[in-house]
Amino acid sequence: MVASALFLSVKSFLILMSLQPLLHGRELLSSGRMDALVLLGIVLLTSLPVNLYLYKLKNRMKDYNESFNKLQSQAKELADNAPSFNDDTLMSRYLTDVLEVEDDILGLLKIAEKAMVADAVSLFINEDSGLVCRLSSGRSGIVTTGDGLIYTVFRSGKPLLHYSESPGKDIRPGYLRDEEIATLLAVPVMELSTSIGVLSADSSRYRAFDQQDIGLMELVARETAKILKRQRVYSQIQLSYRSLRILHEESAPLARSLELSALCERIVESAARVSGGKVVLLLKKGRSYDLFTKGAGYLNEKKVTSLKGTLLEMVHANRDPLYHPDVSGFRTRVLPFHFRGIKSVLALPLFHGAKIKGILTVLSERKNAFNSMQINLLEILVNQASVSISNVLLHEEIKKMAFTDGLTGLFNHRHFKKKLSEEFKRSERFEDTLSLILADIDHFKKVNDTFGHPVGDIVLKGVAGIISRTVRDIDIPARYGGEEFAILVVKTDAKGAKKIAERVRKNIKAHDFKVEGNLLKVTVSLGIASYPADVTNGDELVEKADQALYAAKKGGRDRTVLYGELK
Ligand code: GH3
Ligand code: MG
Ligand code: MG
Repeated sequence: MVASALFLSVKSFLILMSLQPLLHGRELLSSGRMDALVLLGIVLLTSLPVNLYLYKLKNRMKDYNESFNKLQSQAKELADNAPSFNDDTLMSRYLTDVLEVEDDILGLLKIAEKAMVADAVSLFINEDSGLVCRLSSGRSGIVTTGDGLIYTVFRSGKPLLHYSESPGKDIRPGYLRDEEIATLLAVPVMELSTSIGVLSADSSRYRAFDQQDIGLMELVARETAKILKRQRVYSQIQLSYRSLRILHEESAPLARSLELSALCERIVESAARVSGGKVVLLLKKGRSYDLFTKGAGYLNEKKVTSLKGTLLEMVHANRDPLYHPDVSGFRTRVLPFHFRGIKSVLALPLFHGAKIKGILTVLSERKNAFNSMQINLLEILVNQASVSISNVLLHEEIKKMAFTDGLTGLFNHRHFKKKLSEEFKRSERFEDTLSLILADIDHFKKVNDTFGHPVGDIVLKGVAGIISRTVRDIDIPARYGGEEFAILVVKTDAKGAKKIAERVRKNIKAHDFKVEGNLLKVTVSLGIASYPADVTNGDELVEKADQALYAAKKGGRDRTVLYGELK
């Protein structure tokens, strides 16, 4: 039993113990009443620790279960509240936590100051305007002078330990400070093999630093460069995260948008968000360009007629994106209008099929304002924008095809009917006059018969063109049928309509159609009916105008007849 207890666990030993009396039960029972009692006693005695143990085990299980449930609910809570990278504020908070660049660098500068017993250790970073003091362990608001020892170190990329000739004799550190400097130690802050700044330690003590301190300062400079790099990488991550989200958010509505100017507004907005720059979109419309801008301030121009002599003309000619990190020295103008202080320029052409439909230009007053990732993102955005613009244009073309006549470009019969009903209702409501001119080419069959159908088509097109150019902008010309045209003359009575009709008639009569070396002339007959003088509804207006046209034909053609003058 002892051996098995050693070999097995306490649990198994107890179970074995409890079985002992049962194993010897038969002998004990056969040996008399006293022995039976002893057996019972032993059974009770041995089962007691087993039960006790089981009871303890049960309790422990209960505890386990409770703590497991607690753990589970805590884990769930943690998962629910964990930072989600879909959340912008959480993401940026996370990044600022990771960053804390200033604190890290300042910590380093302070360590160096203490170690070298310097008055101050300061970090100068090269920016557009030259070296600028970014942080200092000792002072605030250090102003650089544009020339001096830190500039020499920055240019040479080599450390420099400088003592003034004699204590009290001034040295030119390249920045201003209250006390005199007797010792200055400056080392470059390098990234790969370029200086990005200078780390400088100064002291009013003579020969305050020695050669050993150069090593220490170089170490601090290397660490500083690493931290600065970390900052840049993180801000790029943040930017790319934000940009990708913008791209995702922006490209979906771009694809859905079916109205051109709304779409262009959206494109410039997205480009501004991705680049952080000013955005100008020139979109070709006929021979000129419509202008859409974001962040460019107030511009007088709403339209641009030519890109001649600008950088954009080159983009148009080369059909390729163009990026210049600094155009301040350029003679060539960037944009076809005045725009001050541009340095960085990124211009991307937009295509509709093989044709350039526009140019998106992203500008900044800073040099090197756009990094390669932003440029990539903008290229993707412009591709998406090109597709969306093509979509809209296609949609507009289809819509136009549905209500225009293919040969003449005028409204077709169906659309004319729609317009007639709209205009009639409007005239009724506002108690306006409305007239209809129906015009039919005289002896048109003869044109076809003599010169052929294609020539007839050219004449039809020409007549349609003359009608379009002759009527007022508010009037609605349409091709009513074969060689018959309708003109809805709004807010005009029969007399006014007759003036327009006569102008049309005379212009057509005066026109020489030049086809295949022949000079051709045609005339038209016109009939007019008016609301409210002649009719009460739209159908009647057509009917009565047709009757007047018929009268014009019968009366000898090449004339205008008013329905009101019949009989
Ligand atoms: P009227 O002075 O009485 O109007 O004589 P007309 O010859 O113009 O009249 P008619 O109605 O007899 O003939 C109309 C012609 O117009 C017949 C048809 O071939 C021609 N036509 C209709 N549509 C087109 C078209 O789209 N192209 C061409 N080329 N001809 C057309
Ligand atoms: Mg005819
Ligand atoms: Mg006809």
